[in-house]
Amino acid sequence: MHFFEFTEEQKMLRKAIREFVEAEIAPKAAEWDEQDACPVDLMKKMGELGVNGIFVPEQYGGAGQGFVARAICLEEISRYSAGLGIAMMTHHMGPYPILLFGTEEQKKKYLPDLCSGKKIGGLAVTEPGGGSDFSGQKATGEKKDGGWVLNGRKCFITNSHIADVTVLTAKTGVDDKGRNKLSAFIVEKGTKGFEPGRKEHKLGLRGSVTGDVVLTDVTVPEDALLGKEGGGAKIGMEAIGEVGRAGMSAICVGILRGCVEEAVKFANERVVYGKPIAKLQAVQFEVAKIRADYEAARLLTYYAAGLKDAGIPCANEVATAKYVSTETAVASSKRLMDLMGGYGVINEYPVGRFLRDALASIPSGGTSHIMQIIMAANTLSGFQP
Ligand SMILES: Cc1cc2nc3c(=O)[nH]c(=O)nc-3n(C[C@H](O)[C@H](O)[C@H](O)COP(=O)(O)OP(=O)(O)OC[C@H]3O[C@@H](n4cnc5c(N)ncnc54)[C@H](O)[C@@H]3O)c2cc1C
Repeated sequence: MHFFEFTEEQKMLRKAIREFVEAEIAPKAAEWDEQDACPVDLMKKMGELGVNGIFVPEQYGGAGQGFVARAICLEEISRYSAGLGIAMMTHHMGPYPILLFGTEEQKKKYLPDLCSGKKIGGLAVTEPGGGSDFSGQKATGEKKDGGWVLNGRKCFITNSHIADVTVLTAKTGVDDKGRNKLSAFIVEKGTKGFEPGRKEHKLGLRGSVTGDVVLTDVTVPEDALLGKEGGGAKIGMEAIGEVGRAGMSAICVGILRGCVEEAVKFANERVVYGKPIAKLQAVQFEVAKIRADYEAARLLTYYAAGLKDAGIPCANEVATAKYVSTETAVASSKRLMDLMGGYGVINEYPVGRFLRDALASIPSGGTSHIMQIIMAANTLSGFQP
């Protein structure tokens, strides 16, 4: 991609995904939201389109198309269902660390099924003690009889009840400064003592499953360790920092596009004083502001994804994109709601869902405060335009 233009391959991908989304997702999105039901079979079916392993190289069963392509998929899905968007985006957090840090055996064992849609992935890092306090995790991993025994509880985990392969972090020691040393593990569904726990009832991003993952004397073999012992913080932060947040950003670009499209539709259809409200200049200003939010979020999101594809460190750009996309998705969906008058609060229209989904996107993958801390640190340590 240039900064402002998709490649022909990316345009073809967008067309194919859009057709699929309009046929399979758009008609059902409101129902999934209302019933808080995750369409797992449909999610698996998207493996056939290449979505589930979009950035994974073809040699491991993926589509080999990178992170701009991934953002295209997530924007298109989330235009209609941000709930399914976060389920898919978190699925990607399973294969990503395996691809980056796994042994050849681990890649061959897990990636093809995660890409084809046969298996669903997940990443479990957050604990009841706090998600922002990443290093304060209490789940433990102890070496025993040539393997590991894992104990603890993770919370707010997307795909908690549907993931077949979960990458999780646990404390496996303390360094000489007394700080926790975390390690990452790959745990398969059905492993004794590894159970989904409480399921959350969420305000937004419904249609994705969010809940606890409970570890009670879970015994895994030595080769369940992902990367180096003590390397879990790096693995977790890289997965969340450059893939989780980038995913949330693309999801909110989808919500913002929904706001633009619904604003145009409503403003042209709603007639007051004998003419469509699109003729009122105050309404035009609101439409323009929603469009500006969409364009800003879109450019930041695809720019950060382009850097990732080019192998350029992009944690700051991803944090900026996540911050702007999530916050403007909240602002624009509220703006659209106001523009629609009484209709804005009627559930027949998707705008209420847009607002709830945007609000729920703010903590997911790290709060706006944490994004600002990253952006401020980057800026104050030597801003170079
Ligand atoms: C829908 C959803 C899906 C999620 N999916 C996953 C998942 O799949 N896997 C996973 O591991 N986690 C997941 N999470 C958890 C998410 O990453 C955490 O909610 C997030 O990191 C915030 O952690 P917390 O909720 O514990 O808030 P806390 O860390 O307790 O934060 C509370 C408040 O304190 C503020 N705060 C914290 N630290 C600072 C600081 N240093 N400076 C200033 N302010 C600060 C925060 O911004 C916030 O306002 C999900 C969350 C949601 C809502």
